[in-house]
Amino acid sequence: MAKREFVSKRAPIYRDVPDDKWNNWRWQLSNRINTVEEFEQVIPLTASERKALSAQNLFRVDITPYFISLIDPDDPDDPIRKQVVPTDAEMVPFTAMMEDSLAEDRHSPVPGLVHRYPDRVLMLVTTQCASYCRYCTRSRIVGDPSATFSRAEFELQLEYLRRTPQVRDVLLSGGDPLVLAPKVLEEILSRLREIPHIEIVRIGSRVPVFLPMRITDDLCDMLQKYHPLWLNIHVNHPNEISLELAQATDRLTRAGIPLGNQAVLLAGVNDNVHIQRQLVQELVRIRVRPYYLYQCDLVEGAGHFRTPVAKGIEIMEGLRGHTSGYAVPQYIVDAPGGGGKIPVSPNYLISMSDHKVVLRNYEGYITTYEEPVDYTPAMAAKFKGEKRPEPGQTGVHGLLDGEQMFIKPEGFDELHDRGGIQHRLKDAAKWVPLGIGSGEKKD
Ligand SMILES: *Cc1c(COP(=O)(O)O)cnc(C)c1O
Repeated sequence: MAKREFVSKRAPIYRDVPDDKWNNWRWQLSNRINTVEEFEQVIPLTASERKALSAQNLFRVDITPYFISLIDPDDPDDPIRKQVVPTDAEMVPFTAMMEDSLAEDRHSPVPGLVHRYPDRVLMLVTTQCASYCRYCTRSRIVGDPSATFSRAEFELQLEYLRRTPQVRDVLLSGGDPLVLAPKVLEEILSRLREIPHIEIVRIGSRVPVFLPMRITDDLCDMLQKYHPLWLNIHVNHPNEISLELAQATDRLTRAGIPLGNQAVLLAGVNDNVHIQRQLVQELVRIRVRPYYLYQCDLVEGAGHFRTPVAKGIEIMEGLRGHTSGYAVPQYIVDAPGGGGKIPVSPNYLISMSDHKVVLRNYEGYITTYEEPVDYTPAMAAKFKGEKRPEPGQTGVHGLLDGEQMFIKPEGFDELHDRGGIQHRLKDAAKWVPLGIGSGEKKD
């Protein structure tokens, strides 16, 4: 099968726009589409879309001329259209819906800095984007210029990072960090680089997809001064992979920036194994490594985009083994309430005994792996480095590591005391396991 050529598109109304304007990111941003009248010149709206566009409290709409040109105007179910053109389905509430479904604001020691994992943070640097995804997980703040982060809040974020040496990885997001004025973005990067314990900086951006002309040589020259810098883009459907996007990812990778993709599983957009296979294969062609495929969050406005989790597992079943390992993302459910990202996958481990595991491959071939009978782990003795502390977050690995023997739900001990009395059989020392805990062995 011959591979698809990546092409460049322009909606008919933009045919006479001179190239120097079309390829200018400032022109693209100031000519974004957001009213019924503007839409009607590019794509005839459905009744549902028209209704949404005239609704009060609608999550911000803006689409770059470049991105709207990728929509087939004659197809009301176009997968790009569904991502950025609102419909009245957005107004339909559902039972698990939340304003901040990942409880990010609760995990923020200072405004805009989400510190959920031991060694890395999410740093929100703006609420603005080049275009707005209808299923935005951060629609509670995104799009609203008055909700953006102030200078004083930026200083608070930096101050927190300086006094938190366990953070080695800072993920810049928002909003979209690449819509910031170049000077502002450069200041953020250089101030982060002054903090010695920050090892890597990553950017999450959909600018290469919405506004590939923003990825100029100048921008790449600036970014590469702050290596090691990683970038995740956000492509959901192969129709988003245009010639312009391929050229933008080429410039970024030439600047030494490793690229990943974070897609969201969306009903009616990409909830199909053949679409996902084409997507991940075309992403590796443009040197973007599929990183995560997210289950859609329980966020206002996104109800109609949700799929069962089983759809994600079915898609993963159709990717692993069927295509290059490089092209296979991890399927993730981001825990409602703030537990963080949880990988979900088909089961490949079928059974086990004390010396054997039974596994199956993607074809349904079933095999056994016979385990050694005389295994002694040597790593603990050989590891000369220092263990990185993960205060309070060693989790299930902490159980395996012998730090604790159990993790209990909140209020477990109190509940099981049943309001009882302190009596002769209750001695807390009785249920502390020998050799577990902070190095204090009982003897
Ligand atoms: C997604 C996310 C990260 C980064 O997670 P990785 O799995 O390391 O990519 C960090 N902090 C928060 C709050 C996140 O949501």
